Amino acid sequence: MPDGTPLHQRVLRDAPALRVAGLIAPAQEAAVAAVEARYAVAITPAMAALIETAEDPIARQFIPDAAELTTAAHESADPIGDDALSPIPGIVHRYADRVLLKPTLICPVYCRFCFRREHVGPDGGLLKDAQLQAAYAWIAARPAIREVILTGGDPLMLSPRRLASILGALSAIPHVETLRIHSRVPVAEPARLSEELAEAMATEKPLFLVVHANHAREFTAAARAALRRVQRRAIPVLGQSVLLAGVNDSEAALEDLFRAMLAARVKPYYLHQLDAAPGTARFHVPIARGQALLAGLRGRVTGLAWPTYVLDIPGGHGKVPIGPEYLEQTGAVRDPQGAHHALAAHQPDRG
Ligand SMILES: *Cc1c(COP(=O)(O)O)cnc(C)c1O
Ligand code: SF4
Repeated sequence: MPDGTPLHQRVLRDAPALRVAGLIAPAQEAAVAAVEARYAVAITPAMAALIETAEDPIARQFIPDAAELTTAAHESADPIGDDALSPIPGIVHRYADRVLLKPTLICPVYCRFCFRREHVGPDGGLLKDAQLQAAYAWIAARPAIREVILTGGDPLMLSPRRLASILGALSAIPHVETLRIHSRVPVAEPARLSEELAEAMATEKPLFLVVHANHAREFTAAARAALRRVQRRAIPVLGQSVLLAGVNDSEAALEDLFRAMLAARVKPYYLHQLDAAPGTARFHVPIARGQALLAGLRGRVTGLAWPTYVLDIPGGHGKVPIGPEYLEQTGAVRDPQGAHHALAAHQPDRG
């Protein structure tokens, strides 16, 4: 270990550190080291502090598992087809009106189910100034683009100065109307989201923060305080989650997660079906199960808590809603309790 920082204050990055912290058994060390040779590992003190058992929903998201070295037949290194949609470094363009810009591939933690796991990591992907300038020019030359989504990696791993500079340059493009940042920092490393970093996000043009969180316990007091620093600057915060086996694949876990978001003034936006990245099969939840879980919340949990359940179609075809259906082929609708009601008498076009 390079410095005298106590273990509980360090980001844990390798098998020996995880073993010393008591997060893996000595017998697992070799297997975890093999995973770490292939995929980035990091667990922040904030997340490590939440881990109670090796199988709990926080541990499962971040502690490497030997199963990651097995790629299932349906899995792919580029599960949603981003590579073909990247005209220049850092840019992914799939939809006419919006574009992704990835200024860094560094994250505060490395999620074991990450759809970009072949790309993210501590030593990669920081766009150089010339590459950023090229990205701005690329966006400036396309007036159809109205929104730039900073993702990665995690844009809130940048310094306040660099983030402010990027947001300033994007804001200066006349046709860019809104900005968005996708980040796990507010929950995974809340202390990093300082007043200074929050101030860097205080742009003149509307900016939306979308925080990635998968379990209610991620919304600690420190995370809520970090989100407040952002919200006080008139930045709306939305939530996105991935439906994950052993983490949030029950009605109770989803209800608790979405209620924890609302309690932190975070509007649930998307619940993602897991993308088939290599070695992530242990997290897979069938779509029919996801639909049943959401249907179980309908009518019982405030509509504010309701995210759109989405699938990113493999091959680069885009995201589509896959939530439970209430309107039936027969022209009837299903109510939250499952009873059917004919619509013909109320909707004249449905006779
Ligand atoms: C997910 C995604 C977006 C954002 O989609 P929204 O539905 O607007 O949240 C934009 N571009 C790409 C390439 C994406 O994968
Ligand atoms: S924070 Fe996002 S990009 Fe980073 S490892 Fe987790 S899922 Fe992947």
